[in-house]
Amino acid sequence: MNAKKSLAILGSTGSIGRQTLEVVQAYPDKFTVEVLTAHNNAELLIEQAVAFKPNVVVIGNEEQYPIVKDTLLKHNIKVYTGESALASVVQMDTVDMVLTALVGYSGLKPTIKAIEAGKNIALANKETLVVAGELITAMAKENGVNIYPVDSEHSAIFQCIVGEFHNPIEKIILTASGGPFRGKKRNELISVTKAQALKHPNWTMGAKITIDSATLMNKGLEVIEAKWLFGLSAEQVEVVVHPQSIIHSMVQFEDGSIKAQMGLPDMRLPIQFALTYPDRFKSDLPRFDFTNYPALTFEKPDMETFRNLALSFEALKRAGNMPCVLNAANEVVVAEFLKDRIGFLQMTDVVEQCLNKIKHIEHPSLEDYVQTDKETRIKALELIN
Ligand code: NDP
Ligand code: MG
Repeated sequence: MNAKKSLAILGSTGSIGRQTLEVVQAYPDKFTVEVLTAHNNAELLIEQAVAFKPNVVVIGNEEQYPIVKDTLLKHNIKVYTGESALASVVQMDTVDMVLTALVGYSGLKPTIKAIEAGKNIALANKETLVVAGELITAMAKENGVNIYPVDSEHSAIFQCIVGEFHNPIEKIILTASGGPFRGKKRNELISVTKAQALKHPNWTMGAKITIDSATLMNKGLEVIEAKWLFGLSAEQVEVVVHPQSIIHSMVQFEDGSIKAQMGLPDMRLPIQFALTYPDRFKSDLPRFDFTNYPALTFEKPDMETFRNLALSFEALKRAGNMPCVLNAANEVVVAEFLKDRIGFLQMTDVVEQCLNKIKHIEHPSLEDYVQTDKETRIKALELIN
């Protein structure tokens, strides 16, 4: 890579966004930041903008607009707000690559706009592919856009198939830590609290994905994400619980050979690879020592206790708008769980009922996805109240 790569970082104030800026900071002669966006965290957005000097920032929450604008005016940084602002900044001529680290469904429309403008995507926001994987991957193909995975499992698979793109994949094995409640049975999960669910054993992440990891919905969403990123069927995706989170995922080729990608759990590495592919930049990230991990262990996921994983496979097989239903219902139940309005096990019950109640659409258009998302959110809230 010769010229500096110019980045739009959507969701720069979040866990992935902040770690992306750490990567950028480590290679000042390789990257520039053109756009930063946040939703509520005006204070951190201002701090980041002063440090990284983007051309433009977007603050989603309009109430925060005046303070961001007044502060950044003297730094010559443009400030926008509102949903349409996100859609237009990703299309700026000066942007080479868009890193999507928004949370949930909010990532869908900006990603579509970026693809329409021919921008390569570094995709952290897995929900985009869960909601509308067929549409997004078709659009990317049409516009000659590459989607580079940031999610650690998908980055692992991508790293395993580099140089093997002509060799068909027999199956992939997605590893899962099992989350904080690994080994627990349903009756032990009835009264778990949000504080317990927010304690992930190996990763520090945003609240939504941390709850998804505790319910195994995160792995379910990742199964769907993998299907679209690597053009697989549901039968070609296997999940294995690997509590140490050292093997980040594996690929089995048609001769039976399995490749694994390994390392300490640290998102900066997959973020960096998405930004630097096909190159690997020398880094100071902590190195893995095998002798510190004498046992790497593997177990079958308990899909009876953690039914979200089974529901995700079911949604994927039913296809059409069903993964969109799964995602919307899940976003609602996680938000309600974080407000202490529903219990841990009830989250899965509501998702399952939504999958049974919302009308199946076999070949949804973008408008169908938007409508499905809306209807499912209403239905999920109805079921909770
Ligand atoms: P966070 O909650 O930490 O950050 C989310 C970011 O998106 C923040 O910058 C937030 O702004 C912004 N945001 C939230 N809601 C909206 C909205 N409605 N419109 C616009 N912007 C919004 O999430 P993470 O960084 O943990 O996760 C981001 C994505 O990456 C998710 O899809 C997650 O599944 C995926 N991912 C995360 C991993 C991780 O290690 N964290 C690992 C693999 C994937 P603000 O804070 O200013 O309100
Ligand atoms: Mg992951």
